[in-house]
Amino acid sequence: MSTPKPYSLNSRAVADATMQWLARRNVSVLQIAELAHDLQKAYYPDLTVEECIVHVESVLAKREVQNAVLTGIQLDLLAEEQKLLPPLQDMIMNDEPLYGCDEVLALSIVNVYGSIGFTNFGYIDKLKPGILKRLNEKNGRDCHTFLDDIVGAIAAAAASRIAHRKHAELEQQQ
Ligand SMILES: [Mg+2]
Repeated sequence: MSTPKPYSLNSRAVADATMQWLARRNVSVLQIAELAHDLQKAYYPDLTVEECIVHVESVLAKREVQNAVLTGIQLDLLAEEQKLLPPLQDMIMNDEPLYGCDEVLALSIVNVYGSIGFTNFGYIDKLKPGILKRLNEKNGRDCHTFLDDIVGAIAAAAASRIAHRKHAELEQQQ
């Protein structure tokens, strides 16, 4: 009888799975970058979407962020497959307003870049621009209860990263 291989974390596999699952759920880095651009363009008129892509990629390279993406997408998928236990199944499938664990999980992403992220996250969650609009449409088949908050949080974290970097650049110039 062969002994099972001891568990060891494969960081590359986690990072790869994060990008693959976002793509499989029809969310692109560009769409998240557009949200981050929306959040910051008023403060930095020269900011380009291309620049925002780099910041989104940096956010997605963080372990905490990858963990939240994989966990959230997994729960959405299990809800779509009707595999969750009642009453959680119906609560997640119907995006129950009094169920807040989706927002709480997304906050672990926002946390990575400090308090500006919270403001941006709240703002984007209210307005639901761009890709967030599609993720919030209910068709009774797809479940994005976790993914919408996760995508908003990645954009908010990228926006915070932009604000911090831009400020540092300004200080260097002075
Ligand atoms: Mg949600």
